[in-house]
Amino acid sequence: MSNAIAPSAHPTEKTSMNLEELKAAESKLLLGTYDRYPLLFERGEGVHLIDENGNRYLDLLSGIGVNAFGYAHPAIEKAIAEQSRKLIHLSNLYYHHGQAALALRLAEATGMDRAFFSNSGTEANEAALKLARAWAKLKREQGTHLGTKFLALENSFHGRTMGSVAATWKDKYREPFDPVMPGVEFVRFNDVDDLKAKFSTDVCAILVEAIQGEGGIRPVSREFLQAARDLTRSTGALLIADEIQSGMGRTGKFCAYQHYGIQPDVTTLAKPLAGGIPLGALLCTEEAAQAIHAGMHGTTFGGGPLACAVALAVLSTIEREHLLEHVTTVGTYFREKLSQLARNHSAIIDVRGLGLMLAIELDSADLAKSVLGEMMKRHILINRTSETVLRFLPPYILQKEHVDEAIAALDAILAEQTAQAAATPIPGGKRIGN
Ligand SMILES: *Cc1c(COP(=O)(O)O)cnc(C)c1O
Repeated sequence: MSNAIAPSAHPTEKTSMNLEELKAAESKLLLGTYDRYPLLFERGEGVHLIDENGNRYLDLLSGIGVNAFGYAHPAIEKAIAEQSRKLIHLSNLYYHHGQAALALRLAEATGMDRAFFSNSGTEANEAALKLARAWAKLKREQGTHLGTKFLALENSFHGRTMGSVAATWKDKYREPFDPVMPGVEFVRFNDVDDLKAKFSTDVCAILVEAIQGEGGIRPVSREFLQAARDLTRSTGALLIADEIQSGMGRTGKFCAYQHYGIQPDVTTLAKPLAGGIPLGALLCTEEAAQAIHAGMHGTTFGGGPLACAVALAVLSTIEREHLLEHVTTVGTYFREKLSQLARNHSAIIDVRGLGLMLAIELDSADLAKSVLGEMMKRHILINRTSETVLRFLPPYILQKEHVDEAIAALDAILAEQTAQAAATPIPGGKRIGN
């Protein structure tokens, strides 16, 4: 093995590389999948991340919606410590106390009947796709035609495995790996006529995110979700709601579809489910579950004792600390502040989202990029998705004072950026902002 980075010591033996050394080491040692920001974090406290030099960053992204209780939350620490002394992994060959207890709590919260546990979001969706195919096969065996096609939406994101990525909208995620799972057709976002035109008994399931996450915090319309529900009911196809980003209370209700009063047949959860320990879940109706029997699907790690114990602690904490109410209160405040900001800055062309799943859309991708960079310089972490959209997925424990801090920074940055843009003609003559 040739390794030009650390001739004296094996790189993994060196415990405290600085950022530059880490960059060099990773660029030689890791697959080049990530284009990381130049920040090196060592720990976190509440809503703050703390870097190698002790600088505190206000984290409005929370590990892409995973760290719902921020960092070093005592309930998570306690659950990890206690369960790790008993049993971390078991396999799915034997019983442990976690899965049934967690399935019961999740079934109550989602209105579903049964659960399957995975390790990640994409695996939960993979299970949902397999369930839909198995369901359609069962229906065909019972004499009802239901095909193998899936309908997904423009701007969707369902994950990176061959099935989930096939249902993910952006070409750049799929095309390098073609052929991905065949049989997915994309429907124009919120276009009921397009949905109706593409739906038939050849479709075994429609996949939707009630509020699209990576796609730019875009809520599906009530008419569209209702049409998807009615069409699937009419043939026996499944309606699958991907709540991996929007679920677990992120929008102020346990699942985003509950804002619509429309119940799907299958839903998937992951990101914040086990407080940062990897865990995903598929939940479905009793009827749909009949398509799966022993041996058809499974996982080595999924639903392990540690992950389940922490997820139970997450659910208890959400309840005990009334976090759904808190998410609604702080989220409403945040959204109002963003709307005010939009009234003062014409570069903000839209404000979207519910609870603590929020976004502003700017009138240019370059502006969105520089606002993100300037926020980082001011030690506030946000995210850019769908080119022009600045996304906020803060921890549920966020307080109004943190919102004020973020809004003041955005206000100052947008004022600076638009003043600069007014002074500098952009090539092609287009000016950013006013
Ligand atoms: C993040 C995400 C996924 C994929 O989850 P992974 O854990 O990264 O596999 C799927 N669907 C939605 C809506 C997501 O936000």
